[in-house]
Amino acid sequence: MRRSFCVLASLLHEPKAVKVGGKMKINNFKEWKFKEPPVYAELPIDENPEYNVPVAVKNAVFSKVPTEPLIGQLHLVCASDACLEDILDLDPIVAESEEFVDFIAGKYLPSGGLPVSHRYGGYQFGYWADQLGDGRAHTLGEYINSKGESWQPQLKGSGETPYSRFGDGRAVLRSSIREMLASEACHFLGIPTTRAAALVVSEEHKVWRDKTYSGRAKQENAAIVMRVAPCWYRLGSVEILLKRQEPHTMKTLVDHIIKHYFPNINVEDEDKYVKWYSDVAHRNLDMVATWQGYGFTHGVLNTDNVSVLGVTIDYGPYGFMEHYNSHYVPNSSDDMGRYAFSKQPEILLWNLDKFAEALQPILSDDQKAKIEGVNKALEKYVTDKVLQTYISKLGLTTIQDGDSLLIDDLLNMMERTMADFTATFRQLAEVQANQLSDKTILEEKWSLNKLQEATGWADWVKRYQGRLQGDQVTEQDRVSRMCKLNPVYVPRNWILQEAINDAENSDFEKVRFLLKLFHKPFEVNDEAERRGYSSQPPSWSYGLKLSCSS
Ligand code: AMP
Ligand code: MG
Repeated sequence: MRRSFCVLASLLHEPKAVKVGGKMKINNFKEWKFKEPPVYAELPIDENPEYNVPVAVKNAVFSKVPTEPLIGQLHLVCASDACLEDILDLDPIVAESEEFVDFIAGKYLPSGGLPVSHRYGGYQFGYWADQLGDGRAHTLGEYINSKGESWQPQLKGSGETPYSRFGDGRAVLRSSIREMLASEACHFLGIPTTRAAALVVSEEHKVWRDKTYSGRAKQENAAIVMRVAPCWYRLGSVEILLKRQEPHTMKTLVDHIIKHYFPNINVEDEDKYVKWYSDVAHRNLDMVATWQGYGFTHGVLNTDNVSVLGVTIDYGPYGFMEHYNSHYVPNSSDDMGRYAFSKQPEILLWNLDKFAEALQPILSDDQKAKIEGVNKALEKYVTDKVLQTYISKLGLTTIQDGDSLLIDDLLNMMERTMADFTATFRQLAEVQANQLSDKTILEEKWSLNKLQEATGWADWVKRYQGRLQGDQVTEQDRVSRMCKLNPVYVPRNWILQEAINDAENSDFEKVRFLLKLFHKPFEVNDEAERRGYSSQPPSWSYGLKLSCSS
């Protein structure tokens, strides 16, 4: 009864909308509401009244948990116009309103909202870590936008939950800025990712963090970022149900995910779980191939940080590699380099193996064998995908024998000369292919100027020119194709750090500028050039590492 009344009520109260650039946009945030009930209400939700005490939750996918709003004077650090307009149907002007800022701060819940924290587990650094879950995140509800798409806004840093373990449920400004900017940057680079809508910081709400794990904790300002994704299930969402022996809940969850997020799979199909596994695997391998193409290194590729949708999730101590280093490890806690740049495809395969293991209780013997069959082909699949990524970055159109070596030789030369990953590929498009051996021309390009010092450079250029001829790629096509795949700007750690330093002094200009800049990472921007964002990184940025303390 209640459900049908709410659907009717929401139809009667159509949100007020205005046209922005031909699209209908809501300009009064009070009019914006969630769908009621949200799609996840069909899953088991634990209603433990002691919501903010750490507990081992059983037989549930979520816990119902109210947010704990940020206290004190609030400031909007930034909002993504693209995310607001294209996903949430909001006129970006609403970001200025008190209701919207309160929404991001966990103070105001629009009608239809149902705040929940998700229960999941995970393998951290190769070992089963047991229950993890949303220790500082609340999914607020489901929003169906004007295009009919379903999205779930989620706050990160919004207070304690049954999954908080030893944490305080909060996030600090620096890590929230990094998540906000990387989410939107990755989207516009073409990396599948969760999105970020807005970021709010409190002037007075302080939390203690030991950023460098040196025993000298400091007070930092608490912040909340609103992330947006179709759903927030991870490989660890299923894994916890294996470890806690809850096959019934596993079936309910997997059926729900297939029904709502994998429309290509028939829910009546006997082999739907095999097909789902295969889809999750391929989507994640497609994603990791895009990472390799941009030098993106996630930093904490635990199974709880891998989405079943194959989108990049949980931005922490990530890094966009600067000088090429196959062993690049941005996370200062990853002593063994488990999550180094070049290991990411292999780690995704390891994680998928654990995921296949987790599904065992809901598979027949025949289906287990089929999944083994799927697994056997994954390594070749991802190796080919990564090769395809690099071949495209060079403006080539086909894959030929010997291409693997062509790429390896280039990367090895980059590694030896410490040529920059992003700039090298972009600059290869900025110099005519037939001038790539011209020393004086290459001297004008700071990264190619390093690369040309490599033994074997002239020989490599000849091979590359030969391949371009073989593919019948005209210079014009090569340049236009390469400029669409090789960005001028990526969120380099030093660029983010400068913006964070200013933001910690209440100056959000750089953060806002970067958010706009990363909407068009492939276009040269005069102001960004003036700020040196595509120039050789400053010496202080060399070897910059990020801590997990966030
Ligand atoms: P992450 O490394 O951010 O993916 O987090 C790993 C786990 O620790 C997740 O279950 C998080 O929810 C939890 N966590 C991280 N930071 C905090 C915090 N400040 N308070 C509570 N839980 C946290
Ligand atoms: Mg995580």
